[in-house]
Amino acid sequence: MADQQMFPAFVLFYHRVATHSLNDWSIGKKNFERHLDWISKRISMVSLDEIRASQIEGTRSKPMVAITIDDGYGENSEHAIPALKERNIPCHYFVSTHFVETGEPFPHDVSRGVPLRPNTIEELQRYVELGVEIGAHSHTHVNFGRPLSDAELRCEITDVRKRLQDWTGQSIDYFAFPFGLKQNISQQAIDVIFESGFKCFLSAAGGVNWPGKEASHLQRIHGDPGMAALKNWLTYDPRKIHREPLFEDAFRTAKPPNALMPREESCV
Ligand SMILES: [Zn+2]
Repeated sequence: MADQQMFPAFVLFYHRVATHSLNDWSIGKKNFERHLDWISKRISMVSLDEIRASQIEGTRSKPMVAITIDDGYGENSEHAIPALKERNIPCHYFVSTHFVETGEPFPHDVSRGVPLRPNTIEELQRYVELGVEIGAHSHTHVNFGRPLSDAELRCEITDVRKRLQDWTGQSIDYFAFPFGLKQNISQQAIDVIFESGFKCFLSAAGGVNWPGKEASHLQRIHGDPGMAALKNWLTYDPRKIHREPLFEDAFRTAKPPNALMPREESCV
């Protein structure tokens, strides 16, 4: 048996809920709805703020699941957002601002020959009215594992927060790293994230969140691969879950001293 106050929180990430051109970062509408119905019958579905609160508190009396969606695909207006809204399930929606601003499709879709429409600013504003929370997913969906200048980091992190706050009127507190594996994350980027006023960053390499361990970094599990994988993660046996976070000691999450960024360039 698990310690009574030590239940994990799971943060799932999806990208695009659709009925056509499904790929590794899409899920069919019916499957997505099955996921939501299966989870909501069994586990408390909560916001990232609720998960963070119990991380900070150091106790959690029941398991929790939060839903996140990355990138900012326009089709989510038709399927994902209505499905979540109908069920009154909280959602954090992470967007890369360059694509919202320009309407350009994501390079990873163009290279597969399926350019897909990104969200518009108006759609994000409508999501906010429906209770969705918006988060930052960089400006150009950049890989932070490669060397970036201070100006690039400011453009991909600091300016994105300001822009999303202007668009939505929300405080933008969460930053989800594109690609999200350990090799796509840098200490330099994390320092700028906290210096820019974000409360928390999210990775995407699998892993669960144990209360008391970490409140500035939430680990996420990929929801797209399907029901079997999802059940495997969520019907956990506490004895089998490795309690140490995957990223333990890999990155420093406290705000570093003297990390103020030079204020010069802006995004192009
Ligand atoms: Zn992404």
